[in-house]
Amino acid sequence: MDPKELAPVLANVTQAAAKLTACADVKDALAAIRRDEKLTLADQIAITEIEAPPFHEETRGKDLVRRFKELGLVDVRVDSEGNVLARRPGSGSGPVLVLAAHQDTVFPAGTDVKVREENGVYHAPGISDDARGLAVILQVLRTMQEKNIQTVGDVLFVCTVGEEGNGDLRGSKYLFFKSGVHVDGFISVDGVDVGRLLYAATGSKRYRVHFDGPGGHSWKNFGTASAIHAMGRAIAKIADVRPCEDPKTTFTCGTIKGGTTVNSIAAHCEMELDMRSAGAKELDALEEEILPLIKQACAEENACWGAEGDNAVKLTLEPIGHRPGGQQSGEVSVLQAARAAMGELGIELKKYDAASTDHNIAIYCGVPATTLGGGGAEGFNHNVKEWYDPKDGYLGAQLAFLTSLLLVGMQGVTEPLLEKRP
Ligand SMILES: [Zn+2]
Repeated sequence: MDPKELAPVLANVTQAAAKLTACADVKDALAAIRRDEKLTLADQIAITEIEAPPFHEETRGKDLVRRFKELGLVDVRVDSEGNVLARRPGSGSGPVLVLAAHQDTVFPAGTDVKVREENGVYHAPGISDDARGLAVILQVLRTMQEKNIQTVGDVLFVCTVGEEGNGDLRGSKYLFFKSGVHVDGFISVDGVDVGRLLYAATGSKRYRVHFDGPGGHSWKNFGTASAIHAMGRAIAKIADVRPCEDPKTTFTCGTIKGGTTVNSIAAHCEMELDMRSAGAKELDALEEEILPLIKQACAEENACWGAEGDNAVKLTLEPIGHRPGGQQSGEVSVLQAARAAMGELGIELKKYDAASTDHNIAIYCGVPATTLGGGGAEGFNHNVKEWYDPKDGYLGAQLAFLTSLLLVGMQGVTEPLLEKRP
């Protein structure tokens, strides 16, 4: 959606934002965030260097617990899924805002995570995604503590597990579906672009598709249906699919593996399929188009060799991910607060977008939510060549700070914009 087509921010919200930034304590706090730029970056580097592979975030989690305690929070715990929760209480009568970032990276255990600096740019797997988000929420807390900012609502800092890939948002799913923790609003800091605001959650459905056949020798058993050939046929058909462009709908066969040796007819192979859409109906339609193509491809491989019964390649569709999605009205408090904060900080809203992050589950549950950029610039995410450029990075921490403060309210200055949910 073109941000220029958005209705202006509601008057009461811009007024609250102006009131906050006119307040001396808030001015001081914003200046402290800029002053602490190097400290935020140091946290980011230290966090990056503690590996957090999928499903094994515990070492990084322990370090984060220590950091929240060192910054003066008492109510700090790890829930049974592995999320780190650290509460900074308000006056006791206000709403609860979650300020989150994800602990996990896409990189397997044993990946070299040592950070290397070159011409002011920092290189390491995970340096940006989402070590930046974690460092930013710690900086928000550091500033609130140092400047003794008294909020009306609680800020619940949450470092989630399993945001990436096959983690399937398990941390935020646990938070919203199982933990019983009350949440009135949700902000994730992920990605770095401060000019991007996410108003909707891209839904996704993922499958691991297994092909199993009899296998055999490439010479002696020629004429046997092949698992790999069946999968090849399937991928060729999927590659020709042209999904709906608006709302944006996409797919990819992200991984393939299988076979044993070059001179074997493969008995087994598998691929992982990712389908996404900003629209729930469009996602279902894509799934209904692609799954039959895979079945058809497998049937064609079997028909080609007259393979039946035990000689046929069989298909197993294993669902490995379902990220519910959804849309929100532009008037929800979290989006309004973020836009007002951008206005005060001189950040131009350039992209008003949908994506798939921890905020998906909040939006699905009807909790006002968004994802903010952590500031700076990044590249090669999800690749060992990932880099982070800290130029103007403080804007990300200032944006998260001011948006949060608008939502939970500041005692004696502003009322919370976030509404308490039942
Ligand atoms: Zn991320």
